[in-house]
Amino acid sequence: YLEESSSEEEENLPSYTIMSIEGNTVIGLLGGGQLGRMLCEAANPLGIDIAILDEENAPAKQAHNTNRHVTGSFKNAERIKELAAVSDYLSVEIEHVDTEVLEEIEKNGVEVETEEGTVVHKPPIHPSWRTIRLIQDKYLQKEHFSSSGKGIPIAEQIAIESGDAALGSLKEAGEKFGFPFMLKARKGSYDGRGNFKVNGEEDFEEAIKALGTLPLYAEKWAPFIKELSVMVIRTEKDDGTLRNCVAYPAVETIHEDSICTKVFMPPRDVSDDIAEKARKLATEVISTVWGRGVFAVEMFVLEDGSLMVNEVAPRPHNSGHHTIEAVPYMSQFKAQLHAVLDLPVPEKLIPRVKSAIMLNILGGAKPDSHHELSSLARGTFGDDMDVYLHLYGKASKPGRKIGHITITGSCSIKELEAKAETFIDTVDKIRQ
Ligand code: ATP
Ligand code: MG
Ligand code: MG
Repeated sequence: YLEESSSEEEENLPSYTIMSIEGNTVIGLLGGGQLGRMLCEAANPLGIDIAILDEENAPAKQAHNTNRHVTGSFKNAERIKELAAVSDYLSVEIEHVDTEVLEEIEKNGVEVETEEGTVVHKPPIHPSWRTIRLIQDKYLQKEHFSSSGKGIPIAEQIAIESGDAALGSLKEAGEKFGFPFMLKARKGSYDGRGNFKVNGEEDFEEAIKALGTLPLYAEKWAPFIKELSVMVIRTEKDDGTLRNCVAYPAVETIHEDSICTKVFMPPRDVSDDIAEKARKLATEVISTVWGRGVFAVEMFVLEDGSLMVNEVAPRPHNSGHHTIEAVPYMSQFKAQLHAVLDLPVPEKLIPRVKSAIMLNILGGAKPDSHHELSSLARGTFGDDMDVYLHLYGKASKPGRKIGHITITGSCSIKELEAKAETFIDTVDKIRQ
């Protein structure tokens, strides 16, 4: 009897399909790290299929089952074309991609074999490869903003010559800006890895040694009192002109050793007036780029309360992770999906909590250095503070972003900071 029943049960097991068989809309994503993973987490309940181009078992691939994933590098033209062939739309989770091939796909499409023969397939690309290409070069990006006629303030900057001429060029920067100034790689940098603070002429040699082989530029030192970030959703009309730029409330970002470690919403000790100005400025900045999607605008607040744009990211961003819980009806990831697919986007983005803190979990000295922190997050409930743990399915390495914790409150940000003290101390301890 038992045997019969179990074999019958087996026969009656329902069959489930993976996303791709359902015929849902497919977004092809270049890059499958934690941003792609959280994009997949937002896409899953919405019935949107995401095809990831990245290494086998990349964090995003772990979070979404489809037979459309492509294995390879998001810098490889052939793999990108392969991805385009299975995608209705293309988007990115990282800006350091091959934009030449994206431009080619937009112009000529990719060939796809169908039952009716070979057809040319042209998935729309959002944001535009033009925007991605512009943003890849931090110097050109800011030249573009500052010459847009929209009154976008940036730090003064000059291009630095490569090779033997670099020294003369650095001298010129020192004379023009004084010391310290910031020497930056124009392309490919993240988490401050392409930046060198030049304190005086005595640093020139070391600066050239550190970055000299790369195209560089120098930036006047920005004596900021705060760093803010504003996430913006950009939508377009059918003719490709701007429809709307909708901004989330400004947040305060804390960078330690040039890597973002903490985010506070609303910013601490920043007037509503400045936070609102930041929001307005961010929409102006994003009105000057091309394509749909979410963007981050990083800014400095100077002593006199004025704002300066540091840089833009053409994708979901670390400073928007708190929106998963704080703006649950339209997190930055859901917003990316809606914008790319041209689905409705709200005109206002009002958080459902009064305050939120995001703490990055960076890998510590040992593979388990962060375990005390994740246990704390798993075991803390209620009392005017909700705690949400996000781990990215990445192996821990020192300084690597392997997860984050969002803490939300119905109290002021200062009160939430006091309640979250143990979390903040534990995060800081991992880095020591
Ligand atoms: P991300 O990971 O945000 O892409 P990145 O490698 O592109 O970082 P930047 O955003 O250029 O680096 O700089 C990293 C941090 O260095 C800034 O958040 C800020 O704290 C500091 N910084 C950058 N430029 C300046 C400047 N001109 N003056 C003073 N501090 C600066
Ligand atoms: Mg950057
Ligand atoms: Mg930055």
